[in-house]
Amino acid sequence: MKIWDSHMHSSFSGDSQTPPEEMIAQAQKLGLPGITFTDHLDWDFKEEPGLFDLDIPSYESKIQELINTYTDDNFKINYGIELGLQTHLSNRHRVLLLENDFDYVIGSLHVIDGVDPYYPAYFENIDPIDAYRKSYEAMLENIIAFDEFDSLGHLDYVFRYGPAKELGIDSYEPYQELVEQILKFIISHDIALEINTGAYKRGLKEPNPSFKIIKKYKEMGGNLITIGADAHSPEYIGTHFDTIEEMLLDAGFKAYQVYKSRTPYDMPLK
Ligand SMILES: [Zn+2]
Ligand SMILES: [Zn+2]
Repeated sequence: MKIWDSHMHSSFSGDSQTPPEEMIAQAQKLGLPGITFTDHLDWDFKEEPGLFDLDIPSYESKIQELINTYTDDNFKINYGIELGLQTHLSNRHRVLLLENDFDYVIGSLHVIDGVDPYYPAYFENIDPIDAYRKSYEAMLENIIAFDEFDSLGHLDYVFRYGPAKELGIDSYEPYQELVEQILKFIISHDIALEINTGAYKRGLKEPNPSFKIIKKYKEMGGNLITIGADAHSPEYIGTHFDTIEEMLLDAGFKAYQVYKSRTPYDMPLK
C-alpha cells in the first residue's frame, strides 16, 4: 500500500522553486493515494526577514484550484501549512487558525532564541550537548505556549545540523527526560508525532525523530502518526517510505493518520 505524503513544499515556500503542479505530477506517477501541501509560514524569521512569509489568499486559491483539477477517486490533495513556532507568535497563530480552514497544521520549531540551527552560528560559543538540549527545552516551551496544531514536525530535526554526527551525540539518550516530557505532552493533547524522512536526502540513515524516539512514543501510548518526506522538489516525494513502513510495523503501529478538515483519519500500513 502506498503511503500518503503529508509534508511537502512548493514555490509558495521561500525555499522551494517547484510549481505545485510538478509535485502533483510526481505524486501521481508514484501512485500515492494523496498528498498534503504544507507550505512554510515562519513569521519573524530574523536571519532573512520575510523569507518564510506566506501569501495565504493566493496559496489557498491555488490549492483549491488544484484540488478541483486533479482530485479523483484514486488521488486526493489536502490543504495544509507548516507553522514555525516561536512563543511570542502564539496569539497570531491562534487568530490565523480561526480565520483559515486548513485541513492539516504542522507545528515545527525552526528558530531557537531567534536563530535557525540550519545556520552554523547556532552552534558557535556553546557546548554542543547544551546546544541540542536548548533545542528540546525551546520545543517544550513552545508547545506549552501553543498546542493548536495537528502534528509535531520533525521532533529531533536540530540533530540534522551541527556536530551530532561527528561526535556521536544521540538525539534521545542524553535528553531522555526532556524528550519524554515532549512525548507525554503531545500524547495527552492529541497531537500527532510526525515521521519526517527529509533527513535521508542529507545522507542520514534515520527519520526525524529517530527510531528510538518513535518506539518510545509507541510504548508511552502514542497512537497518532503522520508521515511526510518534507520534499521541496519532486524527486524527494515519498522518499524512504518503505523503510519507514517496516519500522512502524515493527514498533507495533497498524495505521498512520491523514488529516482532513483538522480531523485524523486512519490509513492502514501494509
Ligand atoms: Zn520544517
Ligand atoms: Zn517542511
